[in-house]
Amino acid sequence: MKIKNLKTDVVIVGAGTSGMVAALCLAKWNVKSIIVEKNLGVNEHPKAHELNSRSIEILESIGVSIQQLEQEASPISDGSRIAFCTTIKDEFGEIDIDKDVDDPSKYKRYVKNERPYLNISQSEIEKVLRKTIKENPNIDFLSGHTWQSVEYIGDTLIAKVEDINNDKNIIIDAKYLLGADGANSPVRKTLEIQMLGHGIIGTFVNAYFENNLRSFIKKPAKLYWIVNPAAAGVFIAHHIDKRWVYNFPIYEPWDNKEEITDEYLTNRIKEALGIEQIEINIKSISYWKMTLQTAEKWNHKNIYLIGDAAHCFPPTGGLGMNSGIGDSHNLGWKIAQSIYSQSNTSLLSSYENERRPVVENNGNESLENYERFFDVFKSLGIPKDGPEKLAKFKASKLIKLLPTFLIEKLIAILQSVAKTKINSAIKSPKKNKKILSTIKEQIPHFDRIGLDLGYIYGGDAVHSKEKVNISSTVTEYLPSCSPGARFPHNWLNSSKTLSSHSLLDYTKWTLLTLNGDPLLADFNHSILKSIPIQLISISDLDLERRYEESFLELTEIHSEEVIMVRPDGHIAFKAKNTTDYQNIAKEFFLRLGLID
Ligand SMILES: Cc1cc2nc3c(=O)[nH]c(=O)nc-3n(C[C@H](O)[C@H](O)[C@H](O)COP(=O)(O)OP(=O)(O)OC[C@H]3O[C@@H](n4cnc5c(N)ncnc54)[C@H](O)[C@@H]3O)c2cc1C
Repeated sequence: MKIKNLKTDVVIVGAGTSGMVAALCLAKWNVKSIIVEKNLGVNEHPKAHELNSRSIEILESIGVSIQQLEQEASPISDGSRIAFCTTIKDEFGEIDIDKDVDDPSKYKRYVKNERPYLNISQSEIEKVLRKTIKENPNIDFLSGHTWQSVEYIGDTLIAKVEDINNDKNIIIDAKYLLGADGANSPVRKTLEIQMLGHGIIGTFVNAYFENNLRSFIKKPAKLYWIVNPAAAGVFIAHHIDKRWVYNFPIYEPWDNKEEITDEYLTNRIKEALGIEQIEINIKSISYWKMTLQTAEKWNHKNIYLIGDAAHCFPPTGGLGMNSGIGDSHNLGWKIAQSIYSQSNTSLLSSYENERRPVVENNGNESLENYERFFDVFKSLGIPKDGPEKLAKFKASKLIKLLPTFLIEKLIAILQSVAKTKINSAIKSPKKNKKILSTIKEQIPHFDRIGLDLGYIYGGDAVHSKEKVNISSTVTEYLPSCSPGARFPHNWLNSSKTLSSHSLLDYTKWTLLTLNGDPLLADFNHSILKSIPIQLISISDLDLERRYEESFLELTEIHSEEVIMVRPDGHIAFKAKNTTDYQNIAKEFFLRLGLID
């Protein structure tokens, strides 16, 4: 076997969203990386379908075209509703994000992007990321290559990779390695890092089919939950005109995977749709196990875990992929800054310290969403363990003794009894009221601006003497300029072309002042040499008075106060005046190991 040697700054194992976003974050800082991905092309089987507001901001800040993503996303009017149905045509309830949430205008108020969320298949996001990476000279993409091992020779990290098609081994000499290799992460396993938390919560089948169902639906929605005892599941409209996923639970060991053939799926999908005359174009099937787990530690020396390799949780909340994007964005600049400062800084240990609480909170909320969902079934008279009991019953030895036609008849009778129960609950005014109120209780599952934007980092990479007293809830986001918070978006002109976020730069720290003091610039140049800081004086922006006033009110920069914003757009610290800034900055950057 031939051997090839390569050298780079960072080896990234896995070209899922986490790995590719990490490469783009590093590339922004001119840090070179090599992505190693075992698959040749993008996995066309779509998993995630929701890109949240923070991820959109992150992608935009690292040069990903949001227009390209929007082209493949659902039209905005298709993505704001969640329907509850007995078949896709027969709805008995809904959540309409544009109407049902308190203060539907909040997304528009707090984010810059015209479309705060995108309902778009993960596979399409990955295609846009691959295209962006291809044009980037700082990233080498080795597709069809499998990562094999990593070892240290002295301080040098050596990764071994196999070129599957050309029978070639590649040895890569690097400073860092990122395990972005998904839930079964070979990197994590090699490091013998355990996953802690809930083991398997459920097993699910995911059937991807390509059909245009627009003429069959009653009204556009992104999710159609089907409460039908013969075909319970959820249709995920990745795009109503072309891409659908039908997802349903199976109960192991009673359900037999071999019985889930294309024919079985076609019939089940037709039943769930309530449409007989339709050809279903099934493209792929995947099985996945729902867990809620976090890696016991997220790094070993200069090897870091990101995305699903570090944490897995239920998809009920759409936070998995988005959390991975958040990890990459948090770690990318820290690695780059450490390379620039030529020190293995304590800044890097803030990665896990900051991300773990955010991700664990996301995981807990996702599990709560999953559990809360059973209340809808309960309100319809279906016990939580009903489907599992039916699977057990079908697999029991006694039942297996009966002829197939009799088994089918028996099951049909049981399903019909359950169907009648559901329909009469929907028709009963009293029960219907309860059903509808239980559906509305699911709102935090789908309206989670606080989770997306409201997390506040703590720890060493944030300087906070004041206690943060602003805390967002799941459905409420409270803009805050407290240290650790995401620097809020605020329009700075009436034409909405200049946002407070336009002032930030992923490759720089941003020091905001009202009138810029020459002493600040001198101090930054002489003491903080290895830290790229852009100094922005608000008075130089020539803002219209009312915009300047509201910006100053938000930032609480009134006279000599300054705010330092980190490259990732989170506030590092605030200072009362130039002298206070010099003291805090010295202590802060010294603590992080970025200055001597
Ligand atoms: C049904 C479903 C619905 C979901 N819905 C949502 C949603 O709406 N929103 C959301 O945010 N999340 C959602 N998720 C979760 C989301 O899909 C994952 O969190 C996301 O894919 C994680 O991305 P990743 O890049 O960390 O890992 P992955 O996407 O798993 O990527 C890992 C990559 O590593 C590669 N790899 C593995 N081993 C090696 C090796 N040895 N060498 C080279 N390459 C290797 C793999 O081929 C793969 O490309 C959903 C998940 C499921 C299953």
